[in-house]
Order: sequence, then structure tokens, then C-alpha cells
Amino acid sequence: MTFEDLNLNKPLWNALEDMAITTPTTIQQKAFPVIMSGKDVVGIAQTGTGKTLAYLLPCLRLWKYNKKKVPTILVLVPTRELVKQVQEEIERLATYMSLDVVGVYGGTSLRTQSAWVMEGADILVATPGRLIDLVMNGVVRANLIKKVIIDEVDEMLNLGFRHQLITIFDLLPPKRQNLMFSATLTTDVANLIDNFFDLPIRVEAAPTGTPLENIDQQGYYVPNFYTKVNLLNHLLEHDATMDKVLLFAGSKKLADKLFETLEEKYPEQLGVIHSNKSQNKRFNMVNAFKAGESRILIATDLMSRGLDISEVSHVVNFDMPEEAEDYIHRIGRTGRAEKNGVSISFIREKEMEKQGEIEQLMKYNIQIKELPEEIEIIEEEIPEEQERTFVANISLKTAKRDLSNSAFHEKKEKNKKVNKRISHESKMRKKYKKPKTRGSKSKRKRK
Ligand code: AMP
Repeated sequence: MTFEDLNLNKPLWNALEDMAITTPTTIQQKAFPVIMSGKDVVGIAQTGTGKTLAYLLPCLRLWKYNKKKVPTILVLVPTRELVKQVQEEIERLATYMSLDVVGVYGGTSLRTQSAWVMEGADILVATPGRLIDLVMNGVVRANLIKKVIIDEVDEMLNLGFRHQLITIFDLLPPKRQNLMFSATLTTDVANLIDNFFDLPIRVEAAPTGTPLENIDQQGYYVPNFYTKVNLLNHLLEHDATMDKVLLFAGSKKLADKLFETLEEKYPEQLGVIHSNKSQNKRFNMVNAFKAGESRILIATDLMSRGLDISEVSHVVNFDMPEEAEDYIHRIGRTGRAEKNGVSISFIREKEMEKQGEIEQLMKYNIQIKELPEEIEIIEEEIPEEQERTFVANISLKTAKRDLSNSAFHEKKEKNKKVNKRISHESKMRKKYKKPKTRGSKSKRKRK
């Protein structure tokens, strides 16, 4: 895809050419049609993903000349540096348009900045506090704003701009387009969106750069839940560098089951977060994990998106993700900020196809390791893993209904030989070494 494929116009195409920008980034491709349609948008994107152009291009494309020169587009950013940066980006993009942009920020003369705005501005880039000053002084007419873009929202909330943002939302006219960009979707950000946005569409950037280089991507072929638990325990016992482990489960239910299974062994070192947990609980568990007080945090894909957790030593894909892209999001939690990280994927036979999709997407192969000798292979499966047995039982019943003709007897003998349990067991033994049944083990343990 090139910018020619986006419904831009000559002035914008020319400006992009001058900037030597030829190919839209993922967030630019995804955000463009949605913003053009007038819907509210929540963009999850970090600096470096091209997010600024992602919102500027459609906004400038939709902008119409207005001789009053009063701001109809407002960009809010958390710092003075960002005001300048965004302002300069707009100026470059608007080289071939008669559009004026003014940047305002706190800590300097309000009078001077008021004068800039009064001289005429189509787009105003501002820090929240200074914008409020200008509105209160009658310099900016908030009710004329048609589009508001809040960039780096998570950072803004971290810096304590929450009240100012709410004040601004109250000042703005109800009929407006809201665009919000944030590197992470924290609970605070989600609350703000819930309160002030109208059914926003979420667009997400591809993870920045190649986070893969400094991540050692390992994998094991493991048959089922309980064997995965054994492998996990083994790894945690033998590898002291696994001190901050983010563990991904395939669903809320599996996350809870995993928590219950591990709870006894890792009291006080284990947390679980997913959307059914109360906000308070999630907050406490994430904080304990962040602070290094707990060693393991179990998460689902949905929840992990909003988490700003850095310096994770290991990402463990206890279950492989549904979407190949999620794998990259997941492992991107480790190996951050120039540090090396490790990701370990537990891959069931059924998930091998997924593994292939992921490897194709990354153009990189997960390094498959042999299961350590000591790992006990458990045969028992949890209900979520049992579809195969279910199908086998049904076909067995159908066969029983058959009348006793000789052909059937012959076949029955043969069928006995390929009895599912035996074939499965021997297959497991061959593939994963000696199998054990979970039942006998757990009973033994309980006694
Ligand atoms: P941002 O993520 O908005 O902070 O942008 C990071 C840098 O990437 C800026 O210097 C942009 O000018 C540049 N940039 C934005 N979009 C593209 C693109 N499609 N191709 C190349 N560079 C880009």
C-alpha cells in the first residue's frame, strides 16, 4: 500500500513527497478510513509508529478553509516539547495548504500566546492547562471545536491531567469527533473513554521496530494442561532468572484454572488478571507484580493490552494466542528497553498450525526444545481439551448398533487393536516420553 491508495489530495501528497514519506504505517492505514468516516477513534500506538500522521492526515484531508481563522481542530498533548513537535509536523504537512497552526503551552506568558491565537489559527496544539486558560479568557471559543485529538493520553493521566481533561470535555460542544491516542490502554484511559467517547472504534499499531531481536523465543511441544503445569513448575524451579513471569492463558476460565492449580505452590507470588476480576483486585495484582513482589502474573490477551508492565523477564505462552499478531504483542512485553528477554511457548498438537502462522508473520522460527527428561507426561485432559475423545465415543456407539455379521466381528477385533486409549498412550509415550495419568498422581498426593 502507498499513500496514493489513501483518499488524500494533491497538497497532502506533495507534502508527503517532500518529507520523503512513501508507505503508510499500519496505524496510518487502519486509522485513515475510520477517522474519515467521522467516528470516534481510540488508537493504541506508541511513538515511532507514525501515530501523529495517522490522525493528522485524515484531519487535514477533511479540513475546510475558513476565513475566520478560529481553531476548529484541537490537539492536546502533555508537554511543551510535544506541542512543538506536533506543530512542526502539521506545518510540514500543510506546506501546500493555507492552514495556520498555533502551539500553546504553560509556563510562559499567556498574553503572548493569546496574541498568537488571535492572529488566526485553524489548528490549535495545546497542553491542557494552557488551553483552559485561553478558553477562560475568551481567546479560544471551545464551542467551535469540531475535532479533538488527545495524544499520549496515558502519559497525560500519569502527569495528573485528569481533571483538566474532564474540564475541557465539559467545555467542548457535545457534537464533535474525539480521537485519542495512547501507548497503552490503562484502566484510567479506559474510564475516560467510557465517560466521554461515543462508541469509539479501536485501531492498533503494529508493534514498533523489531522487538524480536533481543528476545530468545523458545517453545516446547506439550500435550495438555497438566503436563504444561509440570513443565512450568520444572522451569520455575530450575531457572532463577525467571523472576518476573507474565503467563498468558487462552481464556478467562483457563486463567482461573491455572491460578487455582498454581496457587498452593506459589502463595503470595502469584496474581491473575482478567476482565471478570474487580478493578481493585487487578490494580493490586498488577502493582505487586510491577514492584517485583509477586513472581508470576497470569493474564489474558485482552487484559494484557492495557498493561504497562516493563522488564518482564519471561513471557510464557501457556496457551498459544488465537491471533498471530497477539503473539507479537505478548512477547513484546519482555526484552524491552534494550534488555534481553525470553519467551517460552507451550504448544499443543492442535496449536502447531498457529505456530506456523506466527512464524510466517515474524519470518522467524520459534526454537523448539526437547521436553526435559524429568517432566511427567500426564494423560488426563481438562474438558477444554477433550473434543477428540468425545468424537471417538460417538463413533464407537454407532459401531455397537451394527448387527453381528461376520464382517463386523472381524472389524471389531481389528478395532480393538486401534483402541483409542492405547494408540493415544503409545503416541504420547513416543512423542513426549513416559505418560502418567493425572488421576493416580493427584490421589496419591491427597492421601
Ligand atoms: P510518531 O510515531 O508519530 O511519533 O512518528 C515518528 C516518526 O516517523 C516521525 O518523525 C514521522 O515523521 C515519521 N513517520 C511517520 N509516518 C511515516 C511513514 N509512513 N514512513 C516513514 N516515516 C514516517
